[in-house]
Amino acid sequence: MEQELIYKRIAVIGCGAAGGLACVLLLKNPYNKVTAFDIKEPFSTLLPTGGGRCNLSYDEKELRELVKNYPRGEKFLISVFSRFSPNDTRKLFEDLGVKTYVQNDKRVFPISDSALRTVQILSNHLKTPDFFHKKEKVTAVKKLEKEFEIITNKGKYRYDTVIIAAGGHSNGFELAKSFAHKIIEPRPSLCALDIEEKYLYSLPGLSFKSVMAKTGKKEFEGDLLFTHKSLSGPLAFKLSAYNAFKEISKENPLEITFCLNSETIENIESEIKNNPKKSIKNVFSKFIAQNYIITTAKVNGIDVEKQCAQLNKKEKEIIINSIKCLKVRVHSFIKDSEIVTAGGVDLDEINPKTMESKLVKGLYFIGEILNIDGFTGGFNLQNCWSGAYLCSKNINET
Ligand SMILES: Cc1cc2nc3c(=O)[nH]c(=O)nc-3n(C[C@H](O)[C@H](O)[C@H](O)COP(=O)(O)OP(=O)(O)OC[C@H]3O[C@@H](n4cnc5c(N)ncnc54)[C@H](O)[C@@H]3O)c2cc1C
Repeated sequence: MEQELIYKRIAVIGCGAAGGLACVLLLKNPYNKVTAFDIKEPFSTLLPTGGGRCNLSYDEKELRELVKNYPRGEKFLISVFSRFSPNDTRKLFEDLGVKTYVQNDKRVFPISDSALRTVQILSNHLKTPDFFHKKEKVTAVKKLEKEFEIITNKGKYRYDTVIIAAGGHSNGFELAKSFAHKIIEPRPSLCALDIEEKYLYSLPGLSFKSVMAKTGKKEFEGDLLFTHKSLSGPLAFKLSAYNAFKEISKENPLEITFCLNSETIENIESEIKNNPKKSIKNVFSKFIAQNYIITTAKVNGIDVEKQCAQLNKKEKEIIINSIKCLKVRVHSFIKDSEIVTAGGVDLDEINPKTMESKLVKGLYFIGEILNIDGFTGGFNLQNCWSGAYLCSKNINET
């Protein structure tokens, strides 16, 4: 008599980056039947990533250096990345048909430079009779004696194993709470900075490469971009990520000093001395963008057409200081193009070797729903890939 095949029924709640890859890897095991619940198409949350190019990882081999790019999750990720690193991600993606390359700044992209192409290739792996996509929103998950019950806006279903990969902007936290998981209050991260010094908003497009920023005892480096409503760019995002849980406001601003220029004061002073007849506007633009000089001089009541020889001591000091440093007071963080959620499921309750809940057997959490967030540069997607790999490996092997 032929024996009936026993399948493992697996539900994946959320088929974005983490959930989507988990589905692909679970389908490698012929004894799995995988159902993804998501009203969106699989992997579609990847489409806007990396400005449409999908910055899928960061090529740092030294794991202790890599995890410094995660304001939340550093210790947990050492364990995760030692089992599935950015290098492993590149190999896995190549096996799946997505060859990658590393930019000079270590950011990893698909060779196609196309998030759309990447989504198409990954989605092709889901075209098997063992995969089911239910375009339904999960409203509750319950643990029964031997299985889980999933309740959606359309029905009720039973599964042996459940992976929650609902991202950071969803009711996934409520689902986790229903299993008594602790949630670290979610906050937006990777935001632009709204500052008190509004005159700087008249410089949209101005940018500085590899600027140092100091806030308290902490220092950060990165590129800074001025927009018509904020300070933005990777450095601003880093600062917002690091301070995501600080209570800041107009009354209690976050003070930041940007070191814009490595030129010595002596050099700047000798340039002034050597060009007594030239206007400040022209002399100082040797060191920094002219529109920045014009704006900062104006806000300090200094005539930029003035000759260098006519500058008094105080004016000279103001101009030199503003070339070297920019002090700003941040009133709030503004959600910009690339935002992720800081906070989420408490990592103390998750096994970093398998991503399984320590509270409920057979329940897994991966991706941004966890209290993990990284700076811009491919770090957030790397967290998703590693989690997806570890949980699917564990499910496939048990
Ligand atoms: C504009 C933008 C650009 C970005 N660029 C990059 C980048 O280049 N590199 C990088 O590393 N990171 C980037 N990120 C961050 C990265 O995209 C996220 O960290 C990542 O997508 C999180 O993956 P996830 O699988 O955890 O969640 P998501 O990808 O958000 O997927 C969650 C899925 O769950 C579904 N879902 C939620 N709740 C339910 C429910 N109750 N029932 C059913 N389905 C549900 C949602 O519809 C969604 O499809 C970017 C983010 C944004 C917004």
